[in-house]
Amino acid sequence: MKFSILNFTILTLLTSGALTQQTPKFKITRCRHSDMSAEELAESLAITQEFSDEADPPPNRLNRPIARETVNIKLFIHNVYSNKTKAGGYVSTDAINKQVKALNTGFKNTGFTFALQRISRTHSAEWALADMDKNAVEKKIVYKMWKTLRKGTYADLNLFLRPIPADVLGACNYPVNVKNRPTAVDRGVCDIHSATVPGSPGPYGQGKTTVHEVGHWLNLQHPFDGGCAKKYGGDGIRDTPAMKVSYGCKIGRDTCPDNPGKDAIHNYMSYSDDACLTEFTEGQITMMHKVWKKYRQPY
Ligand SMILES: [Zn+2]
Repeated sequence: MKFSILNFTILTLLTSGALTQQTPKFKITRCRHSDMSAEELAESLAITQEFSDEADPPPNRLNRPIARETVNIKLFIHNVYSNKTKAGGYVSTDAINKQVKALNTGFKNTGFTFALQRISRTHSAEWALADMDKNAVEKKIVYKMWKTLRKGTYADLNLFLRPIPADVLGACNYPVNVKNRPTAVDRGVCDIHSATVPGSPGPYGQGKTTVHEVGHWLNLQHPFDGGCAKKYGGDGIRDTPAMKVSYGCKIGRDTCPDNPGKDAIHNYMSYSDDACLTEFTEGQITMMHKVWKKYRQPY
C-alpha cells in the first residue's frame, strides 16, 4: 500500500481563503502536508495494515459486515475567525448545527453518531489565518491554538472551523498509538475550512468535507491512494476499488480498468463534488470501528 508521506489529509482547491462559485482555480490535488513525524506516519501505516483486508484470497475479516455497535462520539466545535464575516471565517450557529447534521447524515449507516457538546468562538486573526504549511513559526501557532482550545480526550472529536489560508479544505491527523505518544493527543484534531459548511457556495459547500476528514480521523485512507498499483487500491480495503483521484461526478468512471470494480466516485473518501458523495463501504465501516475501539476509545 502506498501512503502519501503526508499525514494530513486534505482537499486542496481554494484560492485565497474563499471558495469560488465556479470551478475552483486549483483542483483538489491530494494530501500534501504533514505535521506527523516519520515515526508517527509509520505507526499510522501499521494500524491500517493491522486491519487491512486487501489480501487475496480475502481473509474474510474486513470485507464481511460486522455487528454494528453504536458509538456515540462527543463533538467539540471551535470557530476561530479573523473577523465576523463569512470571509473572515465566522460561522453562524445555524450553519454549525447544519454541519453537525451533515456529519451525522454522512455517518448514518455506520453506527457512529456525533453529539455536539459545546461551541467555542475565538476572535483571533493570528490563529484563524495561521498556515502550518508555510513555516515552523506558523505551525507553532496552529499547535498553540489546538492545545489551547481542544477539549476532552483522544476519543472526542474536535473540529476547528477557520478560514485556512492555504489551498486546503480540511485536514485531520490519522490516529496513532497515543499510549506511547501522549503529545499526539493535542494534534489529534481536525482543521476544517469554514467555507465548506452547508450553505457555502461551490462544489464543496454541503459540509461533506467534514465527513471526509472525520473518515481520516478514524483512519480511512483515500481509495485512490496508490492509484492502480494494488489490485484493490491503496487504502487496505477490499471493497473500495483501485482508482485514480476523482473530481466532479463522472458516473461509470473506471480509471483502473485492469483492476476489479469501477471508481468509487460516490465514496466519501474520494475527491468528488459534495453532491456526488453518498457512501462508506462495509470494509471502511469495519475499519473505522476496529480502529476506534483499539486506538481512540480507550484514550
Ligand atoms: Zn482526504
